[in-house]
Parts: sequence; C-alpha cells; structure tokens
Amino acid sequence: MNDYNLSDKYTENSCACEKCQQMCKKTPCMGTPEEILRIAKAGFGDKLFPTTWLVGFYQGILDKPVDMVAPKMTNKGCAFQDEQGLCILHSLGLKPLEGRMTDNHGITIINTIEEALRTPVYVAATEWAKRDFDVMKRKIFRNTKA
Ligand code: SF4
Repeated sequence: MNDYNLSDKYTENSCACEKCQQMCKKTPCMGTPEEILRIAKAGFGDKLFPTTWLVGFYQGILDKPVDMVAPKMTNKGCAFQDEQGLCILHSLGLKPLEGRMTDNHGITIINTIEEALRTPVYVAATEWAKRDFDVMKRKIFRNTKA
C-alpha cells in the first residue's frame, strides 16, 4: 500500500536483514504526525522526543528546518529496536512511514527536488511542516510522564 504522495519506488517492506537493522541503529526513522500520535496513544510516548529536522533545509529542498516528534535514539540505536534488532512497532502495525516504506536498502537515486519530495522522509517532514507543532506536541505527550 502506498500513502500520501509517495513515489511508487517505495513499497511496504518488513526486511529484517543486518543492513536494515543497522539503519535503525544509526538513525531512527521518521513518521507522519498521525503515525507518531498513534504510537504515543499506544503507550510509547516515553520512547518519542521532540526534535528539529535540518536535512531538508540544508539540502535546499525545504525553506526552513522542520520541528517534529520522532523515535528516541539511545546508545544502542532506536528506542523501538528490540534485543534481536527488530522493530517492536512492526507487529503492532505502528511502524513509521520511513521504516515501513523502503526502497530496498536505500539504493534509489534521486535526481530532482520533485523526486526528493516523494521520498518517505520528505513526505513525513512536509506533513509535519503543515502542522502547528506545539499543538501536535501537546497531543502526543499528553499522557506521557516527564
Ligand atoms: S521505529 Fe522501528 S523501523 Fe523505525 S528506526 Fe525505530 S526500530 Fe527501526
């Protein structure tokens, strides 16, 4: 299943190979505001944190940095990765867009800004950019203990 304006190059993928697990260890994936809210409502608010995504701005594709809530990074990798290196959100149907929709191990070549905007990270980031961040943040952390 494809969502939003995502390129057809990306398909739902549950690969658990070493390369995919390493991606989760290096950088937690990015989800849309609705996906992150669903994760918080499922009781995982303590594994999320507010952050600012700068890549799109530095790449000159977005006109400003994007505030968002994302999976926390721990000293072992993404907070949602279990001892076996698997995503605990996968079997719950809660995996964020970037982790869920892949291009077979990150080998897709992006040639234009239009193509970039149809990648999972940019689709998620632009959804965040459309929102009132403070409102979303309050909703997401409403039931989370500090
Ligand atoms: S949320 Fe799941 S898929 Fe995304 S980085 Fe974390 S462990 Fe990987």
